[in-house]
Amino acid sequence: MRPRIAVIGSGPAGLTFARVLQRHGHPVTVFERDSARDARPAGGTLDLHEGMGQLAVEKAGLLAEFQALSRPEGQAMRILDTDGTVLRDWQPRPGDRANPEIDRGQLRDLLLGPLDVQWGRGVTEVVPEGRDGVLVHFADGRREPFDLVIGADGAWSRVRPAVSSAMPQYTGVTLIETALDDIDTRHPDLARLVGDGSVAVYGVNRALVAQRNSGGHVKVYAQFRVPLDWHPNPDREVGPNQRAGLGPADVEAVRSSLLALFDGWAAPVLDLLRHGTAFAHRPLCALPVSHTWAHVSGVTLLGDAAHLMPPLGAGANLAMLEGAELAESIAAAPDPGELDEAVHAFEEQMWARAGKWANITMAGLERLVSPNPSEAVALFDEVQPS
Ligand SMILES: Cc1cc2nc3c(=O)[nH]c(=O)nc-3n(C[C@H](O)[C@H](O)[C@H](O)COP(=O)(O)OP(=O)(O)OC[C@H]3O[C@@H](n4cnc5c(N)ncnc54)[C@H](O)[C@@H]3O)c2cc1C
Repeated sequence: MRPRIAVIGSGPAGLTFARVLQRHGHPVTVFERDSARDARPAGGTLDLHEGMGQLAVEKAGLLAEFQALSRPEGQAMRILDTDGTVLRDWQPRPGDRANPEIDRGQLRDLLLGPLDVQWGRGVTEVVPEGRDGVLVHFADGRREPFDLVIGADGAWSRVRPAVSSAMPQYTGVTLIETALDDIDTRHPDLARLVGDGSVAVYGVNRALVAQRNSGGHVKVYAQFRVPLDWHPNPDREVGPNQRAGLGPADVEAVRSSLLALFDGWAAPVLDLLRHGTAFAHRPLCALPVSHTWAHVSGVTLLGDAAHLMPPLGAGANLAMLEGAELAESIAAAPDPGELDEAVHAFEEQMWARAGKWANITMAGLERLVSPNPSEAVALFDEVQPS
């Protein structure tokens, strides 16, 4: 008898897990809250590291396809002073594939392949130790039992309460995302400023980062230290019992608030905000850096659901690597009786590695959005190849 395995969430963690497990011949069903794969914008570009996200892609048998889609030139990175002076300009060496970029939508489609994803199946609750296994409750009122439920449902996971009472807390840094389309023809000066990869500008408790995606699309991330309710419209829910200002419809109000926050910065840098088409409000939240739980038979967590951390290039990489490793551990467990042991051993390994990265990314956020902007440049000097 094959165990009945459900994955909740079709992000990088859930899809990588399902794809690798399927590759090993195990049936698996993915339940996703979104009504369709393109129900909402997929998000920005991700850099997949060798030995992490790229290793997971390899374990899914998709490395050649990934290499064809990804952009090694996207590893280029430029840092400017707030007056527009170039402080650093790193270009990838020929053949360097250490951290190539890929659009999140392209990665999702690559991982989706032939997987059985049930769209529009939001989960409300998971109840372990039912008579017939772990019971998954869906928003549509249905309930289904499984032998193993994988919570890969992100920051505000509905699976997590089955194993842990931890909730993400606001880090003190808010991120507002905007985007420019068709940048090479519509805004050639900004296209040169962004280059093939990213441009970042660090000021006192503020940062502005622009990243090139494929097809002339550029995502811009404004980050700053403010209280969670900094904007005078605190009516937007960002998570259970957490509210913050700004709705997506307030485009001009957001733009002028941002221009006021970044007042005095070089005109070309501010043009990234002036030409942004829509704004998404993402207060940065994180789980406790050493988040673990007492093992619960039949339920586990992967990715952001297990260890939400500041977005410093590790989250999706960890999520994918964990997905691939858990799938391989399950595939290697010869009989269903050993499933629980395999999951528990995996959790110990995940907690140790994720705890290390949670510390690195929390400390990194302190330095990137800092009262002393030279800290941000020093951090890049430590991690960029010379
Ligand atoms: C601006 C930004 C930039 C980033 N850049 C990078 C980067 O360059 N590199 C990197 O490694 N990481 C990056 N990250 C972090 C990365 O996005 C996350 O760590 C990663 O997406 C986590 O993957 P996941 O599969 O665990 O969760 P998610 O990607 O959040 O996926 C969760 C899925 O579960 C679904 N879901 C949620 N609730 C339910 C429910 N109740 N029932 C069913 N389905 C549900 C969601 O719709 C979603 O599809 C960035 C994050 C941000 C915010």
